[in-house]
Amino acid sequence: MERPNKHAPVPFIDLASQYARLKSDIDARIQTVLDHNRYILGDEVKDLETALATYCGAAETVSCANGTDALILPLKAWGVSAGDAVFVPSWSYCASAEAIALLGATPVFVDVDPQTYNMDPASLRAAIEGCSSDLTPKVVMSVDLFGQCADYDTLTPIVREHGLKLLADSAQGFGSTLNGQHPIHWADAATTSFFPAKPLGCYGDGGAIFTDDAELADTLRSLRMHGSGTDKYDNVRIGLNSRLDTLQAAILLSKLSVFEDEIAARNKIADRYNAGLAQYVQVPHVMDGVRPIWAIYTIETDDPDALQAALGEVGIPAPRYYPKPIHRQTAYADYPTSAGGMDVTDAARLRSISLPMHPYLDVPTQDRIIEAVKDALH
Ligand SMILES: *Cc1c(COP(=O)(O)O)cnc(C)c1O
Repeated sequence: MERPNKHAPVPFIDLASQYARLKSDIDARIQTVLDHNRYILGDEVKDLETALATYCGAAETVSCANGTDALILPLKAWGVSAGDAVFVPSWSYCASAEAIALLGATPVFVDVDPQTYNMDPASLRAAIEGCSSDLTPKVVMSVDLFGQCADYDTLTPIVREHGLKLLADSAQGFGSTLNGQHPIHWADAATTSFFPAKPLGCYGDGGAIFTDDAELADTLRSLRMHGSGTDKYDNVRIGLNSRLDTLQAAILLSKLSVFEDEIAARNKIADRYNAGLAQYVQVPHVMDGVRPIWAIYTIETDDPDALQAALGEVGIPAPRYYPKPIHRQTAYADYPTSAGGMDVTDAARLRSISLPMHPYLDVPTQDRIIEAVKDALH
């Protein structure tokens, strides 16, 4: 007899299984907030900030409304504005460049390494040294794409040599380490997003900034609250309304308690995918010394659209990250690209496709996905 669920849809990310595991704890924490009623900047927000700072080894954590604001706030605190250049990979989610452009500054797109998809140090150097004389280089925004730390040991000396700030967009990489260190070990500030689909996600929007700079942290706390000062009725700078809801902080405190265990599970799944698929597709490359968190498991193949269609027929979602790198999107097409060119980004965009990845993907489903990829490419 045929198994009835052979083609049952596989979730790309399974938040239901995670909730089933944490239900009693999450429900109790939500109830506590409903009972104390401090929905904005309640105790859970401070508790979460302290727990996150300990987790990643940062002196300070400032939570905020989403991962995009987490990029805007430090750029704003550093005074980044019109006439300033911020160097950013084009092979990323649009928000990385959006934060720069929204402040009136100019994103300068940098190419990526063909193996890790993270900022290519040679392309960064070419972008800084070839930067138009109309622009003042200010910040390098690295991205820890798909859950893997960028090559901070090589990038950081280039950033320092040119007197720039380093901002790590770790919305996909929070929890990833290089030689045991989180990106904040190198960066002036690192950020994350708690969007539900991110590895550490809440049940809505949320974000955070990590820094060792106490003065920057104070400015960020002011900026996220309309530019508040010590006198409640005297705002000292133009800011935003960008706070993390107490309810979301309560949910994140619960999820943080199993985060390391979930990262271990993701790495086991990635190992099985790699072993099962390496003969058929280009499996992801992890840099020496990196502990990835596999926010997204991305492979390369000659015809990703055909593979996507074949997998779709058997209930397996396989989105493409990213068919249009930021420098090719309508709103960003006029911004400059590195003098070194964008060849790697432009090649990878035609070949990349991603498979379901979450800590609750059981072995039979992993095997079903591996077999379906093999069948599609036989
Ligand atoms: C998700 C993401 C963001 C933005 O986070 P939001 O919480 O959705 O605003 C920024 N950068 C990268 C690389 C992301 O993946």
